Amino acid sequence: RPYAAADDRYESFDRYRQVGSSGLFLPPISLGLWWNFGDNIPMDNQRALLRHAFDRGITHFDLANNYGPPYGSAEKNFGRIYREDFAPYRNELIISSKAGYDMWRGPYGDWASRKYLIASAEASLTSMNLDYVDIFYSHRPDKVTPIAETIGALDTLVKQGKALYVGISSYSADETLEAKKVADQLGTPLVIHQPSYSIINRWIEDGLTDALTTSGMGAIAFVPLAQGVLTNKYLGDGDAERAQQRGSLGGKRLTDEAREHLRILERVASDRGQTLAQMALQWVLREDVVTSALIGASRPEQIDENVKALEGPAFSADELNTIDEAAAG
Ligand code: NDP
Repeated sequence: RPYAAADDRYESFDRYRQVGSSGLFLPPISLGLWWNFGDNIPMDNQRALLRHAFDRGITHFDLANNYGPPYGSAEKNFGRIYREDFAPYRNELIISSKAGYDMWRGPYGDWASRKYLIASAEASLTSMNLDYVDIFYSHRPDKVTPIAETIGALDTLVKQGKALYVGISSYSADETLEAKKVADQLGTPLVIHQPSYSIINRWIEDGLTDALTTSGMGAIAFVPLAQGVLTNKYLGDGDAERAQQRGSLGGKRLTDEAREHLRILERVASDRGQTLAQMALQWVLREDVVTSALIGASRPEQIDENVKALEGPAFSADELNTIDEAAAG
C-alpha cells in the first residue's frame, strides 16, 4: 500500500528547535537507525517504525555507514524504504550519515582520513538512494589524522553538494573548538555535535556544552535513554539485555542498587505525570544547547510515548536534585 504521511504530522511538537545559531531546525525527538534496522529485523517492522515516526513529526533520521547488522544493512534497508515511501517527502526530511568506525578491510576503512570519509559518504549515498545527505559526520575523533584534514574532507563533501551541513561526533571540547576554527576558515557549515548524553552520562557538561555555546553549535544527544535503562523496561527483575550487549552497561548486569535508583527516578517522573522515558528525554532537552534527543525504538508505541516527552512541566530545583542524587548512585 503506498504511503501517505499523516496530515497532522506537524502537530506533535510545539516547535522545532534551532541547531545553535544555524538555519537548521530539528524535531526535539529524532530517530536513530543503529539497532533496529539491520537484516535481522523484518522489513515490515522497519517500515512501520519509519512511517510512524514521520507521522508523529519526527523529520530527522540518523544513520551511519556501519549500522546493521551486518555493517551497511541499515543504510540499504533505509534506502529501499526511502525509495518506496519517503522520496516524495525528501524536502521535509533531515537525513544524516557518518563515517569513523571500522567499515571495510584494509587501512582506508576506519577513523577520519580524507580517503575514508569521502569514499564512505559516496557509498552511503548509493546505499540510501540519495543525492545528498542533510548532515554528514565525522563519527569519532582520530588521534592520527589532523583535524584540518578531516574537516577539509567534510568541506569537500559540502562543496560537491553531497552534504548540506556537517557535524562531529564524540569530539572533546578542545577538539570541537579546533574543528570549528578550521571550518570557519573554510566557510564550512559545521553546525552540530553528536555526543552521548543522559541522566546517567553527563560528560558533555564538563566543557563541551560551553564550547558548543561559544561556537554557535548545537548538540543532538545520542543514547538519551541509556539504551532502554532509563525507561520502565527494567524496573523489575528482567535482564537489561540490550543495554548489556551494546554499550550502556559495559557488559555488566543491572545491580539491585541500580534498579532501586531507577525506581526513585521513576517516582519523580510519575509525580510529574510522565513516564521515566519521557522525563529522561525532557531532562536532556532542558537547555537549548541540546537541540534534539536521538532515540532508538523497536516498536511504534515507544515512539508515541517518547514524542510526548516535552509535555511535562518545567523541572523544579527539588526534582533536579533528586534526579542528580539518584543518578550519582
Ligand atoms: P536510546 O537510549 O534511545 O535507546 C533506545 C532503546 O530504548 C530502544 O531501542 C528500546 O529498546 C528502548 N526504548 C525506547 N523508548 C522506549 C520506551 N518508551 N519504553 C521502553 N523502552 C524504550 O538510544 P539508542 O541506543 O537506540 O541510540 C539512539 C541513536 O543514537 C542510534 O540509533 C544512533 O542513531 C545514535 N547513536 C550514535 C552513536 C555515535 O557514536 N554517534 C553511538 C550510539 C548511538 P528495545 O530496542 O530493546 O525495545
